[in-house]
Amino acid sequence: MHTRDLSDHATYEAGRGIEEVARKLGRDPGEFVTLSSNENPHGPSPAAVEAIRETAGEVNDYPKAAHADLREAIGDRRGVDPRQVWLANGGDGAIDYLSRAFLEPGDDVLVPDPGFAYYGMSSRFHHGDVREYALSKGEGFAQDAETVLGTYDGERIVYLTSPHNPSGSTIPLPEVETIAERTGEETLIVVDEAYGEFADRESALALIEGREDVAVLRTFSKAYGLAGLRLGYALVPAAWADAYARVNTPFAASEVACRAGLAALDDTEHVARSVESAAAARAAFEERVEAPVWESEGNFVLIEVGDATAVTETLQKRGVIVRDCSSFGLPECIRITCGTDEETDRAIEELNAVLAERS
Ligand code: PMP
Repeated sequence: MHTRDLSDHATYEAGRGIEEVARKLGRDPGEFVTLSSNENPHGPSPAAVEAIRETAGEVNDYPKAAHADLREAIGDRRGVDPRQVWLANGGDGAIDYLSRAFLEPGDDVLVPDPGFAYYGMSSRFHHGDVREYALSKGEGFAQDAETVLGTYDGERIVYLTSPHNPSGSTIPLPEVETIAERTGEETLIVVDEAYGEFADRESALALIEGREDVAVLRTFSKAYGLAGLRLGYALVPAAWADAYARVNTPFAASEVACRAGLAALDDTEHVARSVESAAAARAAFEERVEAPVWESEGNFVLIEVGDATAVTETLQKRGVIVRDCSSFGLPECIRITCGTDEETDRAIEELNAVLAERS
């Protein structure tokens, strides 16, 4: 018995951070400031925590109505039919549903380089082939139609990320529209807005009406602070809303997750506070880090530090966990999540000390 040959497959590094590092260094995980996975440092909304408590005693039952209620609430909020909300086990799950719905074996998928690993992973799981368009570091990872269309060659799905992970750059809506127009109706343009709340920009959802070839990804993992619950969704054109029933996993999200999601959706203050805090942290990184910091519209910043692996390891010893971007093909960069004021201050101090030691 053997698994499929996945030797060329990227690996997903989420959730591998702190326990592993703490064990390696023989320290308690609580001693570290963890700024490696773009989580919300302010925790979940208290209303979501209350909803989780209230649901806890019912988890012997299969999910009841909250899945439909949440799709309806999101649909209301976004101005689309609930059937256009493909609720899933995180944004990752939504990516999988899109792969299931659209990819035939051997179809090509176009993804950004550098970029979020799961686009390629999901495509390969579904027997698709992956091609990459390059975002140029020298141009600040700028995203526009020309960059994508210069590489596009009839792929079935094209992924755009706005704000982009790991750089924080965004793509203006007219550029997305040009890409959708020029690639035609047989190519699905997926605009991943996992970090959309942190950018003060209109969602690509504005392009969906009247089109059949644009979808938008959103998640509760970032601004909503519910990464551990695994809740995300794709917003899809009305034309194929009904395909959800054919591609989703039975009970696509748990009752606990959906009830917490409903509560979190209503707690707009918590989201606003989280977004404000991320903006302040970004400004602090940009002003005070003594190394080049890319302008970001996400809840993280990309920083050029020389040897990213060495700097990441030294920071770990000093109690700060950041993301070494070698796995993104950027061995000279680290990515740091916007923390609370104290966490951000600590990260900046420690990073500046490490950079000074190395210079
Ligand atoms: N898209 C991007 C660009 C991401 O960075 C992430 C997670 N880090 C996701 C999607 C998926 O997040 P989740 O599955 O937690 O919703």
